[in-house]
Amino acid sequence: MKHISGGFSTRAIHAGQEPDSSTGAIMTPIFASSTFAQESPGKHKGYEYSRSGNPTRAALEHCLASLEGGEQGLAFASGLAATAAVLSSLKPGDEVLAPADLYGGTFRILDKVFKPWGLVPRFLDIPTPEEFAKAMTPATRLIWIETPTNPLLQILDIRKLAEVAKGNGAMLVVDNTFASPCLQRPLELGADLVVHSTTKYLGGHSDVVGGAVIGSSEKLKPIRFNQNAAGGVPGPFDCFLVLRGIKTLAVRMERHCQNAMNLAEWLQTRKEVERVYYPGLISHPGHALAKAQMSGFGGMISIRLKGGQAALGKFFQRIEVFTLAESLGGVESLVCHPATMTHASIPAEQRLARGIDDFLLRLSIGIEDFEDLRNDLKSAFE
Ligand SMILES: *Cc1c(COP(=O)(O)O)cnc(C)c1O
Repeated sequence: MKHISGGFSTRAIHAGQEPDSSTGAIMTPIFASSTFAQESPGKHKGYEYSRSGNPTRAALEHCLASLEGGEQGLAFASGLAATAAVLSSLKPGDEVLAPADLYGGTFRILDKVFKPWGLVPRFLDIPTPEEFAKAMTPATRLIWIETPTNPLLQILDIRKLAEVAKGNGAMLVVDNTFASPCLQRPLELGADLVVHSTTKYLGGHSDVVGGAVIGSSEKLKPIRFNQNAAGGVPGPFDCFLVLRGIKTLAVRMERHCQNAMNLAEWLQTRKEVERVYYPGLISHPGHALAKAQMSGFGGMISIRLKGGQAALGKFFQRIEVFTLAESLGGVESLVCHPATMTHASIPAEQRLARGIDDFLLRLSIGIEDFEDLRNDLKSAFE
């Protein structure tokens, strides 16, 4: 595949995606073929069977590697299939350290799938490099983080955590779903692997579920083995949709960030809102770090509402532009109630201890007109 250099937007549009050599088609074809003809046994054009490799998927994997600044990318059927492939490269008895404020599905797969299998997950309430360094043991193989975290939008120091991991012979894995490679590139800051739910900003249009792992070919070896051996691969139609979404990632992110910043500032002035969590606000404890390791603050805002259950019920009834739904990162604005939706798989007392109570709302700010988003929230509050 042709190596594409250039800026982020250029690579998003062209990396892995030269015009089709047989027809000149500008868009990478959807290669809906499970198998590929061989000239003689073992002699083929690089593809044998679509679980092992498919040209549409290869284009996506190439593009993802280019955007994250990694040697290689691997696409999966979902973000959690990607997560499972990474965790499967560990052995029973190995420890994984993660912040307590974590995507609910990641917590669940660690706690309910891999713990019974023998992995030892440990969750840290205070996710600072110092606390991670203290928690490391000789059995720790992975530090698994998200930043910004979900749903409290804490900012974790990727560079320092990479040092902590390396100093102890472990790897740092960063789930970069919330920022996208447009705003944050963990491999450049020292992380070993990047994981994505491409369902979110990369796909960007809420029309596909997918995942990815990106890193050096060496570190991806066991994960590549798992991709083929366990088979959690995306189909070519899904790969096409993610590739198409990625082409506009940079322009979408610009608008997501702008709308979110404007809304966060406005939300801070509302008496109905007790607290606004957005790393772009100077009042956010992770603001300086976010400014240093991200090129924008993203499209996710969490808020804590005042006024009890009645106000909450009314809010959900009155929103019109925002839709009550799980997920994030699409062009449309969504509001999510983590306690009953994305984070319902976390036991109630643990959830409350982490600050995910009934009055916490997570907003995925879309790319609609800012005034319409503000007016929608305003009328839902009043
Ligand atoms: C959605 C999400 C996932 C899981 O991805 P799926 O594509 O839903 O399997 C993992 N991490 C984060 C941060 C997410 O938002």
